[in-house]
Amino acid sequence: MSESEVLIIGAGPSGLFAAAELARHGVKARLIDRDLQPHREARATSIQPGTLEILNTIGLLQPFLDTAERIHCSRMYGPGMTELGSMSHDGSGCCCEFQCSLPQYETQRILEEHLTSLGGQVERGVTATSVTTDANGPCVELAHQDGRVETVRPRFVIGAGGAHSVTRHSMSEPLTGTTYRGNFLVADIEMSAPIPRTEAGVICGPNGFLLLAPLPGGRWISFQDLEEGVTAVAADEVVTRVAARLYGKYHPANVSWFAPFRMHRRIVSRLADGHRFLIGDAAHLSSPFGGEGLNAGLHDGHDLAWKLALVLRGDAGQPLIEGYMSERRIADHHVLAVSDEVHQSVVDVAEGARAGRELHPAAVDPVTAALVRNSRAMIDVDYWGSPLIADYGPGGPVTNAPRPGQWYPDWSHFAGTTHRVLMFGDSADPASLLRFTGRWSRLAPLSRNVDVDRRRAGLATDGLILLRPDGHIGFRFPATDSDAFSALDAHLASYLIPAEQ
Ligand SMILES: Cc1cc2nc3c(=O)[nH]c(=O)nc-3n(C[C@H](O)[C@H](O)[C@H](O)COP(=O)(O)OP(=O)(O)OC[C@H]3O[C@@H](n4cnc5c(N)ncnc54)[C@H](O)[C@@H]3O)c2cc1C
Repeated sequence: MSESEVLIIGAGPSGLFAAAELARHGVKARLIDRDLQPHREARATSIQPGTLEILNTIGLLQPFLDTAERIHCSRMYGPGMTELGSMSHDGSGCCCEFQCSLPQYETQRILEEHLTSLGGQVERGVTATSVTTDANGPCVELAHQDGRVETVRPRFVIGAGGAHSVTRHSMSEPLTGTTYRGNFLVADIEMSAPIPRTEAGVICGPNGFLLLAPLPGGRWISFQDLEEGVTAVAADEVVTRVAARLYGKYHPANVSWFAPFRMHRRIVSRLADGHRFLIGDAAHLSSPFGGEGLNAGLHDGHDLAWKLALVLRGDAGQPLIEGYMSERRIADHHVLAVSDEVHQSVVDVAEGARAGRELHPAAVDPVTAALVRNSRAMIDVDYWGSPLIADYGPGGPVTNAPRPGQWYPDWSHFAGTTHRVLMFGDSADPASLLRFTGRWSRLAPLSRNVDVDRRRAGLATDGLILLRPDGHIGFRFPATDSDAFSALDAHLASYLIPAEQ
C-alpha cells in the first residue's frame, strides 16, 4: 500500500480522528491543513458519553479525563433562576456517566498527539484548491505555503474541511436544510457563576438567555442571544451582556475569545460517491445547543476508518463503502433531529422568558427522561435498517438488551480492530463450525463460550453474535446449528471477502 492512498483534507477534529483511526487500522493516510498553526478557540466543548465510550475502547480516554471538566447534569432556569427542568447523565451505563468539557483546541491537541504516537502527522500550510475525478479516480491540486503546486492522485479522498469543504463542492453536494432564526454570541469567559462547576445551565430571563458550561481553569463557555439586527459586539460589551443576564450579580473577570455565530440544521444528500467521502461539518451542521457536531464528526471518522481499511487491504469491496453512506446517514440524521429538539426547547423557554410569559417546570416521566438522556449522550446510535446488519431474533424475551445495529455494552472486553464472532453454548453442528472457522478465522475470529453475559449481547438462548470493529452488533442468530453458520457466512460474505478453501 503506497503512503498516499488516502488523502484527508482538513485537520480539524474530524480529520485528525479519521487519520488516527486509519493508522490504528494499519493505514497511513496523508492529512493536510491550510492553517500554519492550530487555532486557539474554545468552539465545541462537549465530548458526549457515547464518544467517551469509543475513546475508552481505543485507549484514548485518559487524556480527556485528565484535561476536561466533568458535567454530570444540565439544568434549565427561568426568570429569577427558578429551575424549570434538568437532565442528568446518571444511570446511562456508560463508562463515563458525564460529559467531558474542554476547549476544542485541547481536543485537537489530544487527537494530534495520539495521531503522532501512531506514526501520523499533519502537513500544515497545504491547501487543497481543487478536487476532480476521472476514470482513474480522484485528482487533487495542493497549494503549498511556499508557492509550490502539487497534483496528487489518491485512491480515496476524505473531505474533512468543515462547512465550506472543497471536497463537498467538488461533489456538487449542497448542505440543504435551514439556518435557525437569530444571531448568537459565543464567549470563553473567566467568572464565578451561579451554578456548580459540575453542571451546565441555561439561564433565561427578561434580558435574554445565557448558556454556561464549565471549562478548565475556572472558565466557562457561554452562549447568548443577540438582539435583532445585532451581528457584532465589542469585548467590553460581552462583559455587560453576561452580567445583565445574571441580574448584575456576576461579572466575567476575563474574556479570552468571543465570536458571533449562527446556527444551522443542514446535511448533504450523499455522504460519498465511491472515491470521495464527507465527514464532520463538511457533511452536516447541527445546532450547537445539542453539543453533538464535533462528536458526530468523530463518529464519522471512527466508522469510515474500519471500512476503508478493510477495502484497502483487499478484504472487502463496494458494499462496505456503500455501508458508510447508509449507516452514517441514519446516524447523522438522528444527530440533527436530537439537536433540533434541544434547540427548539431552549428557544421556546428563552423567548417566553424575554416576553414575560409564565413558565412552568416541565414534567417528564422516567422512561422519556432515560430516552432523552441516551439520545443526548449519543449512546443510542442505531444502524438498524442498514444492509450491513442482519437479525434472526433473540430466541426468547430479553429486556434492556441491545439488538443488531446497536452498540454492544461489553465491547471493551474485546475491542481491537477485527470483527469478532461470539458463540454462546456449544456448537450444535461441529462440521459447520469447522467450515466456518476455516473461511473466516482471519477476518472474524470466533470465541467460544465467552465469559460475558449473552443477554447483554441480546440473546435469550445459546447462539451466535457478530461484533463489528466499531463495537456495534452486526448479526444475531439464536442457535449454533448449521442454519446459524450458513446465515452468518452469507452475511459476512455480503461485504467481506472470505479465505479461499
Ligand atoms: C459556537 C459553537 C459551539 C459548538 N459547540 C459544540 C459542542 O459543544 N459539541 C460539539 O460536538 N460540537 C459543537 N460545535 C460544532 C463543532 O465546532 C464542529 O462540528 C466541529 O468543529 C467540526 O469539526 P470538523 O473537523 O468537521 O471541521 P472544522 O473544525 O471546521 O475543521 C476543518 C479544518 O479543515 C481545514 N480546511 C478547510 N478547507 C481546507 C482546504 N481546502 N485545504 C486544507 N485544509 C482545509 C481548516 O483549516 C480546518 O482546520 C459548536 C459549533 C459552534 C459554532
